[in-house]
Amino acid sequence: MFGDQLGPHFVDPARGGPHRDAPLLMIEARSVFRRRRFHRAKAHLILSAMRHRAAELGDRVRYVKADTYREGLRQAVGEDTPVTVHHPTSHAARAFVDALPSVRVLPARGFLVTHDEFKTWADGRGTKSLRQEDFYRWVRQTHDLLMEGDRPVGGKWNLDHDNREPPPKDATDLGVPAPYHPRESDIDAEVRADLDRWARDGDVEFVGEDGPRQFPATRREALAALKRFVEHRLATFGAYEDAVLAKDKTMSHSLLSSSLNLGLLDPAECVERAEARWRSGDVPLNSAEGFVRQIAGWREFVWHVYWYFGTEYRTSNTLRHRAQLPDWFTELSPDGTDANCLTHVLEQVRGTGWTHHIPRLMILGSFALQRGWEPGAVTDWFHRSFVDGYDWVMVPNVVGMSQYADGGRMTTKPYTSGGAYIDRMSDLCKPCRYKPSVRVGEDACPFTAGYWNLLHRHRDRFEHNARMSQAVRGLDRLRDLDELLEQERARRD
Ligand code: FAD
Ligand code: SF4
Repeated sequence: MFGDQLGPHFVDPARGGPHRDAPLLMIEARSVFRRRRFHRAKAHLILSAMRHRAAELGDRVRYVKADTYREGLRQAVGEDTPVTVHHPTSHAARAFVDALPSVRVLPARGFLVTHDEFKTWADGRGTKSLRQEDFYRWVRQTHDLLMEGDRPVGGKWNLDHDNREPPPKDATDLGVPAPYHPRESDIDAEVRADLDRWARDGDVEFVGEDGPRQFPATRREALAALKRFVEHRLATFGAYEDAVLAKDKTMSHSLLSSSLNLGLLDPAECVERAEARWRSGDVPLNSAEGFVRQIAGWREFVWHVYWYFGTEYRTSNTLRHRAQLPDWFTELSPDGTDANCLTHVLEQVRGTGWTHHIPRLMILGSFALQRGWEPGAVTDWFHRSFVDGYDWVMVPNVVGMSQYADGGRMTTKPYTSGGAYIDRMSDLCKPCRYKPSVRVGEDACPFTAGYWNLLHRHRDRFEHNARMSQAVRGLDRLRDLDELLEQERARRD
């Protein structure tokens, strides 16, 4: 069992898993943490979850601490002993498994759609691009999610237009009950002591703060988090899905990504519970549908894109962006910028290793795209800095969705904006020293100026994109464009 295969669905004989009495092996490989400078809260969560799972499995599992997976395997059973494993979640882990002398690879778990089903769907589209919305409708139909016969409940597949509300006027928080908070155990204390020791010995380096653990490390905790979300927070999830408030860091989001990605929750149980809440009249359809779309649409789509596009996809760089990330960004140091939105989001990432989707896409990712940072380095940064970051989920989300480095294989247009969008969707601009409406001069918002600068830089490409051409034509109306370009050339970061 890899460290992200921790739920009961990975050892369920009824679902093709190992025999009830089959011995299990888990390997805690220190080299994983040595290779990259991870957020310390992420390292803590993964080790805590693995060790909690090993404690639950008791004598049935052999838990080996080793330098590498290969060494762990050698130590535990010898490299030639036949092993069985569920399909791992990264190309690198899959290559490692495939190179073992005697291995049986079981189908992937933790997703609704199998690789073969996705391939049939994707190949069946001929020359048409892969689009999440089409895939999502197909999953809704094939899994009978929020359906009435062969039609979507309520008559529409997608209620996104109801899910783009700005935050309520003058509110500082949404006023919804807080998300579930786990209580730490002795295992967490032991993990902390180990991480302190590794860092002290100079063996590994971390970034970010490892405060009280915020995310579930066990199945029991993950189920409690799911219950709390669907019962108390799902109702307001839809309308304010894209909104950001400085004092309400979690808004109405589920905070379930790390539990899903560790394999502690199965996506089917999450979407089924959300649908049941809607059917019992407890939550509005836009909330249930919005949540189901995130999991059955986006999460599934991202997983399959990762495998379908193959190993080369991660190095895509259609826009030929080469700039390196500045130190303040990689160090998660909010003092490195005067942009209030960036300060706020970096502070949150530093403290927790998590922010919701819009800060990731429209603040962090959008800034990286506008500055022309190298997409591979941006992917690595996201992977290391977020508690829910794994190769399969980061590569499509960063390379495809946020940096448009794949030239549109996954999305119809680059996701980026000027400050006006951030101003509309958040309360972050009012206290900022910049003004979202200003593009040139002392008060120029780096996002507004950066947006026009990006459009100018890639005019040739974007003017042929139906969803971007109007924005590109806007460049011709800017009388101060030369001044703006000069200003952006001189910008320090
Ligand atoms: P909610 O808003 O409550 O959504 C419910 C669930 O939907 C999430 O828990 C998640 O499992 C799923 N989901 C929604 N959107 C996506 C998506 N685009 N890709 C995959 N799952 C999705 N998500 C990760 O799980 N790991 C990542 O490393 C990650 N990196 C991202 C990087 C960038 C640049 C962007 C734009 C998005 C990234 N996402 C990632 C997707 C999304 O931002 C997070 O899943 C979400 O913010 C997690 O918070 P939540 O659990 O409260 O999500
Ligand atoms: Fe961010 Fe610009 Fe708003 Fe400041 S004015 S918070 S830099 S979008």
